[in-house]
Amino acid sequence: MIELKRKPFIFLISGPSGTGKTTIVRKLLKKYKNEIKYSISYTTREKREGEIEGVDYYYVSEDEFKKKIENGELIEWTFAYGNYYGTPKEPVLKWLDQGYNVLFDMDSKGLFNLKRHFEDIVSIFLFPPSWEELLNRLSKRHPDNPELVEKRLMEAKEESKMWKFFDYTIVNTIVEETFEMVENIYKAEKLKAKRTYLISEEKI
Ligand code: 5GP
Repeated sequence: MIELKRKPFIFLISGPSGTGKTTIVRKLLKKYKNEIKYSISYTTREKREGEIEGVDYYYVSEDEFKKKIENGELIEWTFAYGNYYGTPKEPVLKWLDQGYNVLFDMDSKGLFNLKRHFEDIVSIFLFPPSWEELLNRLSKRHPDNPELVEKRLMEAKEESKMWKFFDYTIVNTIVEETFEMVENIYKAEKLKAKRTYLISEEKI
């Protein structure tokens, strides 16, 4: 009997705020809960409606966040859209050690930050269907704050220039189709020979 084992990898989904990364992330986690762990970031931004502490983010004050940087608790961090976001080190290292693939939802700076710590990263950049559609989505998300919407749109355009540094690029027009593509990438990456080793070799 030939038994194969796979080394875990980092699976990063990136793209501008409002592109729909979170929906894809949630679907992946639901379907692959036995093999994927999600890296929950710290953030200094306020909790949005429907978000849950310890599921979507850990919500902390700016002081608490800065202490975590000082104490070396974060693998990486960024300042995006007026708030701090950072990745806790301890759980990610533990999960990789236990053999789980670790899923990240980050801005594009996150890719470069992660590359300083990990060799094996599979990265996807999601585009919104159009800037107009992104504006619609952001306006719905922040109905009382047109300035913030404008700022996020400008940053989104800037951030999208980074697409060429990613392994895969997808335009997120229909969420089911995007999910299917993301899932196919994940399934193919899992089978890569470079991550495979044999447990019982029996005459190979
Ligand atoms: P949002 O406020 O829309 O949840 O997130 C804003 C941006 O920050 C998104 O692009 C999100 O992917 C990114 N982000 C969230 N957590 C982290 C993190 O720990 N590190 C980095 N680099 N980006 C993050």
